[in-house]
Amino acid sequence: METLEFQAEARQLLQLMVHSIYSNKDIFLRELISNASDALDKLRLAKLQDGLEADTSDLHIEIEVDAEARTLVVRDNGIGMTREEVVALIGTIAKSGTAELLSKLKEAKESPELIGQFGVGFYSTFMVADRVELVTRKAGTEGHGTRWESAGEGTFTIDDAPDAPIGTTVTLHLRPKDEDDALYDYTDEWKIKEIVKRYSDFISFPIRKGDEVLNSQKALWARPRSEVTDEEYHEFYKHISHDWTDPLEIINMKAEGTFEYEALLFIPSRAPHDLFQRDARRGLQLYVKRVFIMDDSRELIPDYLRFVKGVVDAADLSLNISREILQQDRHIQMIRRRLVKKVLSTIKDLLSSNPEKYATFWREFGRAVKEGLLAEPDNHKPILEIASFATTEGTEPTTLAAYVERMKEGQEEIYFLTGESRSQVENSPHMEAFREQGYEVLILTDPVDEIWVDVVPEFDGKKLRSIARGSVDLPKDEDKPEPEGDFGPLLGFLTEKLTEQVKEVRLSHRLTTSAACLVSDADDITPALEKMYRAMGQEGPRVKRILELNPGHPLVTGLRAAYERSADDAALPDTAELLYGTALLAEGGDLEDPARFAKLLADRLAQTV
Ligand code: ADP
Repeated sequence: METLEFQAEARQLLQLMVHSIYSNKDIFLRELISNASDALDKLRLAKLQDGLEADTSDLHIEIEVDAEARTLVVRDNGIGMTREEVVALIGTIAKSGTAELLSKLKEAKESPELIGQFGVGFYSTFMVADRVELVTRKAGTEGHGTRWESAGEGTFTIDDAPDAPIGTTVTLHLRPKDEDDALYDYTDEWKIKEIVKRYSDFISFPIRKGDEVLNSQKALWARPRSEVTDEEYHEFYKHISHDWTDPLEIINMKAEGTFEYEALLFIPSRAPHDLFQRDARRGLQLYVKRVFIMDDSRELIPDYLRFVKGVVDAADLSLNISREILQQDRHIQMIRRRLVKKVLSTIKDLLSSNPEKYATFWREFGRAVKEGLLAEPDNHKPILEIASFATTEGTEPTTLAAYVERMKEGQEEIYFLTGESRSQVENSPHMEAFREQGYEVLILTDPVDEIWVDVVPEFDGKKLRSIARGSVDLPKDEDKPEPEGDFGPLLGFLTEKLTEQVKEVRLSHRLTTSAACLVSDADDITPALEKMYRAMGQEGPRVKRILELNPGHPLVTGLRAAYERSADDAALPDTAELLYGTALLAEGGDLEDPARFAKLLADRLAQTV
């Protein structure tokens, strides 16, 4: 026998379980049954697809209780685990982002649901048991099985189990009942029946207790929606998603005719912590005529809708279809298109029928959905219709349709500005004239915003227009006097002095209080995008921008006067550099040589004290 330590993160999660931060303890049984059902699916598939020799004629789950010994046993004759698998799967938590989640959990003691994001599954047994044994033998292996045991503290033991049958048996040594703490008597027949009925009725294998089968085994997606309660849907969602929170929205679909399929999809109410991690699990479950075929089928749903969970049951696919074939299958592609359409239209309906739910949806998943603007040019319209954006008009996000409705008389374009944060964008010099003249500007601060704005030309016939790009022609402000005098020579001089930094220096219409700002030429990529490409390891030429000056600003008029007095004033080139540097800083940009800028500035200040 060997005694091993739980991995540090696993230990921490176990601690949380033992000290029971989760109030609904009944769900441990759902988790065990869910694991058992997965193991049965896996065995059946291994036989079907890999030709494993195994008896699958009576796949089932068995529950046994012993009131005197205070034990509860859940047994399956599924795939089982090897010794290495037991150590790896039960002793560690491989999921990425564990540490991050644990620190969040510690901060948010009052919202234990967070733990549900993680599907702590098997560990939930320690909410109700002070000792757990697991005996297992992997199908297709020779020799003995493995015995694992732990009291949920720092260590577990592992040993050979000579006579273990194929499959897995989990034995819980139950804690004393304590109904004040929602710890019920889990040897009570009625309690077991109630829990199975409530949480696991749809499991497709029989769950037996003695001679009795406790679940109906009906595939939920095949039943008419009117006959299924929300709670049943929710529990099914939890089974397939490993989330412990109810979903935000349920979507049923059924197609008849030449290619039949049924789908049951769920939109979660919260983004998983690994939504933006590449190795995260994603995709839908694929069934063929009620038979589970594949988990995480990415072919059925595009990446930007990766948070959607659910099942697709197709009638006419081969039972041993491979992922490779799936990728090319015409019918699968058709189903995928329909699912996308349905998901997007469901969200669109939420916008009007349940704005609060919609707001939750967008807050949780909007960043992912916007990736669809890059991935699916054909779906620009439906995606933009369900998108919302922060705006200078109020604190709530706005849809584009609502923006268009508010557009000022004569305004032809939808204005936006990208940046790293709301305050950076709001305080950007580019915003000045727009604010002054009361034009609403969308505030786009997600990294993906920098990219999609380049490929989406318009919405509802209105061009999307960055106010930091090209020249703006806002209607003339009647109260503002025309700049007097000739700026030509000064602009020529500055353009030449700053030739390393900018492609042109010109007068601006967008500034009211700042002296200068930088803008990108209409067809050039923005500095933020340039930075992102560099971060991804792609080297490109630095794109020069345009320095715009405010002809009404005393610094600019003063500079012109100085230049007119003496074109070879030695201070002028420094002033040019200061002007450029200030414009760069004002938009949150990075100076190429901050030390040099600081020195120029200090020298100049020294002259004024
Ligand atoms: P999850 O089910 O969310 O992956 P668990 O902690 O419940 O997390 O289980 C970890 C892993 O242990 C499972 O993914 C599975 O590979 C394995 N496992 C658990 N229970 C069983 C079982 N009854 N039969 C076979 N493998 C199991």
